[in-house]
Amino acid sequence: MKTIGLLGGMSWESSIEYERMINRAVRERLGGTASADLIVRSYNFAQIEELQANNDWDAAGKLLAKDAQLLQAGGAQLILLCTNTMHKVAPEIEASIDVPFLHLADATASAVVATKVSTVALLGTRYTMEQAFYADRLRAQGLEVLIPDEPDRTMIHDVIYTELVQGHVLAESKEAYLAAVVRLKERGAGGVIAGCTEIELLIGSGDFDIPFFPTTAIHAQAAVDFALGEY
Ligand code: GLU
Repeated sequence: MKTIGLLGGMSWESSIEYERMINRAVRERLGGTASADLIVRSYNFAQIEELQANNDWDAAGKLLAKDAQLLQAGGAQLILLCTNTMHKVAPEIEASIDVPFLHLADATASAVVATKVSTVALLGTRYTMEQAFYADRLRAQGLEVLIPDEPDRTMIHDVIYTELVQGHVLAESKEAYLAAVVRLKERGAGGVIAGCTEIELLIGSGDFDIPFFPTTAIHAQAAVDFALGEY
């Protein structure tokens, strides 16, 4: 089994789900007392949020690239960045390491393509929804990507930062997300990507009559496939 390096804490509310999912999947496949071989770098999310808000992607990229190198030096044979948003600096991270980097948008696009959904709604932070770094990666695999209109984008972004990363999962926010998805469905969405690793704390596949793509679960599963030599 290969060692997986996690760049997490963005936020830890979702990182612990990554750890839980990866460990569970290894136990299911190998049985007995088996669990995953992990090295975790977990940030103070306030520091990361400040870099985002200040548009200091350069400093964020340098920070994550440096720590990816540390994970590699510590024995990681695969690097996972446990957030969709920070994939904005994925090129800097990939360039700084020799071991594979499992890109979250690629793993997600593959999961969508496998279901034959061609038009997919993307929910996430404002950075993920409005900038090209993530949606273009989905489009590269032939997908049509719909993002919410305003004021839904602001609502979805604010719920992530003022509630989910702070551990607050509220019924009224769930209702607001589901109403936003109804509007995306009316515009032609055949599936929904939870393109923020905390969103699946709020909504799940049982909430929809169209396919739901939870990026934390998809990424964790792909990492286990890789670690166990099936990727
Ligand atoms: N975890 C979130 C994501 O997947 C948002 C927090 C962050 O900015 O990293 O995008």
